[in-house]
Amino acid sequence: MNKICIIYTGGTIGMTRTEKGYAPQKGFLGEMLEKLPELSDSRMPKWDMIEMSPLLDSSNMTVYEWNKIAEKIYENYGKYDGFVVLHGTDTMAYTASALSFMLENLDKPVVLTGSQIPLCEIRSDARDNLISSMLIAATGKVREVCLYFGGKLMRGNRTTKYSADGFSAFKSPSYPYLADSGIELRYSEALMRTPDKGELSIRKLSPVPIGVIKVFPGIQFDLFESIMTEKLKGIVIETFGAGNIPGSADALLPIIEKAFKNGTVIAVCSQCPQGTVSLGAYETSSALKEAGAINGYDLTTEAAVAKLYYLFSCGYDSKKIKEMMETDLRGEMSC
Ligand code: ASP
Repeated sequence: MNKICIIYTGGTIGMTRTEKGYAPQKGFLGEMLEKLPELSDSRMPKWDMIEMSPLLDSSNMTVYEWNKIAEKIYENYGKYDGFVVLHGTDTMAYTASALSFMLENLDKPVVLTGSQIPLCEIRSDARDNLISSMLIAATGKVREVCLYFGGKLMRGNRTTKYSADGFSAFKSPSYPYLADSGIELRYSEALMRTPDKGELSIRKLSPVPIGVIKVFPGIQFDLFESIMTEKLKGIVIETFGAGNIPGSADALLPIIEKAFKNGTVIAVCSQCPQGTVSLGAYETSSALKEAGAINGYDLTTEAAVAKLYYLFSCGYDSKKIKEMMETDLRGEMSC
């Protein structure tokens, strides 16, 4: 049986009750896993666990933690057949997206999972999420960064957290599931990525100033001018429908043009979880296209943010970043 490495970063799955509510505690999950009879069953892969320090509620994740997780995978890549990253659900889709870009030429499974109820509770979704993820990581069938939750295996950079309290907490709105869990784990191999050729390398991310702006009826774009043109390097605009914004030509166009001249790139995503941005399809989105905004197609906001961090960290200029943002790099977009 293959051997896998569990990287424990924090999150509900390993939390224990404290006076201030659930919180992660050093050593606690490791002790629980050692005592879990299923994990020493001969049908399970052999495993080791690396506990990150400090353990985090995933709301506190930053590019520094992403770099540390990627480094651990890189350092241990030759020793294991696959990796399971235990992570809080709140920002798991961001971390999965970031790792998919950072781990260049990945050829082994990296499965992120967590749970809505801690493993230490009697009634919990942690047990299945953990055991199924370990089995998926051991088989080597999927050789990309993915996320397993609530019986579904999804491409990591296509996921979004959908439910704050349901066991099916994640969705992959614009890409089908890579595997479905029933009596058996049914893989859809045709949907999986063929890894790029070459040795694994990691691209560490820098804390580039990135922002997300959600458009709403009556938005006063002029209030955003200074942050869009002077402070941020990368902006994701969550627009209506297929890329539409209100009163585009008057208010936003000059700001986008100025931002573009200052080297800021602006990616257009949709507030609709499903479907694709199509700049120029309507008059209300033409201005964005003319001003040089990036067509984000069906990128999730999580993947768009992670991709901007990645491309800026590669050191590309804004022209190249625009070009790469509109190109599928890791199966994150259909364009
Ligand atoms: N706040 C927790 C976290 O993201 C929620 C969870 O794990 O479900 O770390």
